[in-house]
Amino acid sequence: MDYLPIFLKVEDRKCLVAGGGKVATRKVTLLMRAGARITIVSPQLCDELRALLEQGAMTHVAREFQDEDLHDCVLVIAATDAKAVNRRISELANAQRIPVNAVDSPDLCSFIMPSMIDRSPVQIAVSTGGASPVLARLLRSRLESFIPAAYGRLAQLVDDYRDRVKQRFTVPDQRRYFWENILQGRVAELLFAGHEEKARIALEEAIDDTDAHYNDPGEVYLVGAGPGDPDLITFRALRLMQQADVVVYDRLVSEPVLDMVRRDAEIIYAGKARDQHTLSQETINQLLVRLAKEGKRVLRLKGGDPFIFGRGGEEIETLAGEGIPFQVVPGITAASGCASYAGIPLTHRDYAQSCIFVTGHLKDGSVDLDWERLAKPAQTIVFYMGLHSIPAIGRELVAHGLPETTPVALVQQGTTCDQRVYIETLGSMQDLAERETLKPPTIIIVGEVVSLHEKLSWFGMKNKQAAAD
Ligand code: SAH
Repeated sequence: MDYLPIFLKVEDRKCLVAGGGKVATRKVTLLMRAGARITIVSPQLCDELRALLEQGAMTHVAREFQDEDLHDCVLVIAATDAKAVNRRISELANAQRIPVNAVDSPDLCSFIMPSMIDRSPVQIAVSTGGASPVLARLLRSRLESFIPAAYGRLAQLVDDYRDRVKQRFTVPDQRRYFWENILQGRVAELLFAGHEEKARIALEEAIDDTDAHYNDPGEVYLVGAGPGDPDLITFRALRLMQQADVVVYDRLVSEPVLDMVRRDAEIIYAGKARDQHTLSQETINQLLVRLAKEGKRVLRLKGGDPFIFGRGGEEIETLAGEGIPFQVVPGITAASGCASYAGIPLTHRDYAQSCIFVTGHLKDGSVDLDWERLAKPAQTIVFYMGLHSIPAIGRELVAHGLPETTPVALVQQGTTCDQRVYIETLGSMQDLAERETLKPPTIIIVGEVVSLHEKLSWFGMKNKQAAAD
């Protein structure tokens, strides 16, 4: 993080704007909205700024900037068209520890102005640390489009009742649950629909009706986090990630996904690297039960889909046995995520009419899969957890009738920016581990569909093309 985002109180404090053109006008408009006492220093003012001067409580000093103009200022904008003057202002302000922003000169700024979404009192500020103001503006317009304008009024309503709710619900967690229900429920909907008075009445009823000693029972959300790319999680997963009190996650959950969890949630790592389970499955099952019984909202976050080689079933069986409420949110499983990102359709009218997912995690290196059933023509086979069985997979499928030339893709760290795809055949894959250092997680796709990779791969291709150019 190159900058610390903060919101500065400038109401009724002296802010200096040096310059009288269009850029100065934009800054003056913002400062006016925040209630600043503005002094503009500039020999001339553009028409727009002159019009603002007539409406607002501002002072105009009609001359060039002088050092003493900084006296008593809490913030300075250097927006003259002379770079040397802006530099002088910046140096003086820095020496006096006054925050300064010099237009279009990041090196002269001690603070930068974000792109803003104003739903006062809700303020959303977007910054790219000066790297790309255009990107910040694009992000802002996206946010604008899905944050209802009424959010400001909603925040105002909450503010009006804050003290009353604080008295009524003395336990902070209870208070949080209460507000979460209000902000996501009927009261918010009434307000968004323009029924402010009805919303107020409904909120008052909720304060009076809700049992202040009511202890919310805990719940477990068994959530699929997808194969790695955070864009692949579902809206529902995201919502629950932001509501959870505790998160219990596996090694497969990628860091960018974990970053989207509520900041103040407790985070517990449950491991699950091959052969070194940090917590045993039974310990995890019991942990979920205990946390839920403490009244917590527990997010059990698993890579891919929780019901595909994820032992999600076992975990919720224990919960069901204990009568603990739970919900299951599907995720994109590694097979479909990795296949898509490698440009390999798992089925295809010309190549494969069926697709089968199996685990390649073979006990003691022995082979206890039904190879007969796997080695069928026109079928795609996806091996999860097959990294240590690569030679066995190649050998057995050939022994059971598939041609040595059958194409195979090994997708390593699929859907992430570290994705690597190895294209082999059943014959050539057998000594792959000797030639390459393969890293987990890796998924193995066997079948004629793999031949489409050459034509259909798209992910990461733009970068490759750019590098080639
Ligand atoms: N529940 C998960 C699978 C857990 S088993 C799901 O639905 O995806 C773990 C195996 O999944 C790994 O050994 C690997 O074979 C595969 N896997 C998971 N994420 C992967 C990724 N990003 N790239 C490649 N393989 C992955």
